[in-house]
Amino acid sequence: MQLRADLATTPALVAFRDELRAWLDRHLTEEFKANPLADPTGAEGDAFERRRAWQRVLHDGGWIGVHWPAEYGGRGATLAEYALFLVTCGEAGAPEPVNTIGLSMVGPTLIEHGTPQQQALLPAILSAETIWCQLFSEPEAGSDLGAIRTRARKQPDGRWHVSGQKVWTSLGPTADLGFLLARTGDAPSGFRGLSCFVVDMHAPGVTVRGLRQMGGQTHFSEVFFDDVVLPADALVGQEDDGWSVATNTLGHERTTAILARHASTMSYASALLGLAGRPGVTPSDRDRAVTDWIEAQVFRLNGYRGVAAAIGGSTSPATWTQRMQWGLLNRRLFETASALRDGDALLLDGEDDHWGTLLLASRGWTIGGGTTEIQRNMLGEKILGLPREPKPV
Ligand SMILES: Cc1cc2nc3c(=O)[nH]c(=O)nc-3n(C[C@H](O)[C@H](O)[C@H](O)COP(=O)(O)OP(=O)(O)OC[C@H]3O[C@@H](n4cnc5c(N)ncnc54)[C@H](O)[C@@H]3O)c2cc1C
Repeated sequence: MQLRADLATTPALVAFRDELRAWLDRHLTEEFKANPLADPTGAEGDAFERRRAWQRVLHDGGWIGVHWPAEYGGRGATLAEYALFLVTCGEAGAPEPVNTIGLSMVGPTLIEHGTPQQQALLPAILSAETIWCQLFSEPEAGSDLGAIRTRARKQPDGRWHVSGQKVWTSLGPTADLGFLLARTGDAPSGFRGLSCFVVDMHAPGVTVRGLRQMGGQTHFSEVFFDDVVLPADALVGQEDDGWSVATNTLGHERTTAILARHASTMSYASALLGLAGRPGVTPSDRDRAVTDWIEAQVFRLNGYRGVAAAIGGSTSPATWTQRMQWGLLNRRLFETASALRDGDALLLDGEDDHWGTLLLASRGWTIGGGTTEIQRNMLGEKILGLPREPKPV
């Protein structure tokens, strides 16, 4: 069941959606369809390879990077068309393309800040030939990226020598290229004196060590840099001004990218109603499931409000709440499912049933891309205009 609400509010948007639906009818065959009860961010195994194959089909059909400008291989879609694209693909049961970090974060950043040589890397993002990872977080620098210690030292010949460690790098074990934030200035901490680089993940001195999570997957990794040599043209944007480049990247992660999560959230909410309808479920557990389902609809409609505001040239607070709402809502959905499944709660991975894995994976969804606490701080300061939180002295 789904509440009616439509993003296709103009003839142009209806035409866009109809063209996409017709294309999906022809190309989204059963072999590609996403399991509605699987982790949409899973980075391993058959599901990952299926997503890679699906991205190639999208690419061949001209339906990848739809929000990128046409001159960079995209479709030059408006935000409304992009939102409609994500929602229509999700409703049809399409999996997410595999190169999520490249498509929604690194690509748009290189389009804005990259040199022509760096922009030459864009076509391979679209075709899934090169998979990208994001190398920001470190063991002592997650929420506070101003504490980054990985250092890039400029050599007399213009090249850079990089040493340090990153952690929680999604797609690290499969990535070909990384988008690195490292310290180049003299100050030991702070946001000035950071710079962004493109890194070959197979370069001598780069070691990627996969981190196995509690659900059994190796979604992310530790990455060690031992005097890794980067060419002079690996620098993205201005030296020591990497924070303005990185905030652009994080902005994409916290706004448009989350629209891709609407479809999976709706699938989980519908499946939860299915569990709640089974015999023997208590009225209070049934209430809990219905409350979660209603909140999933609120999440989706809030996403639409954000898109509608953007079409009208403004920013809705709804856009900024989406990331936080997604993490908290999904976590609660799986906790409710686990209560409804009683003794089976932590049984992992039946053929079609991934409730146990999702319950474990969703703990990370309130952490990655900025923890819930950090999202709340941002909402307070940027949207509600509250005083900035005091810094430790
Ligand atoms: C699934 C997943 C995928 C990820 N993928 C990537 C990736 O691809 N690339 C990458 O670079 N990183 C990635 N990360 C790392 C992620 O960005 C960090 O885990 C996150 O920023 C938190 O940093 P931390 O783990 O060091 O926790 P800490 O920053 O040490 O925080 C610990 C606790 O303190 C709280 N806290 C910290 N500061 C404040 C504050 N100012 N106010 C209130 N509370 C605060 C936090 O909310 C948290 O509860 C990923 C993480 C996860 C879980």
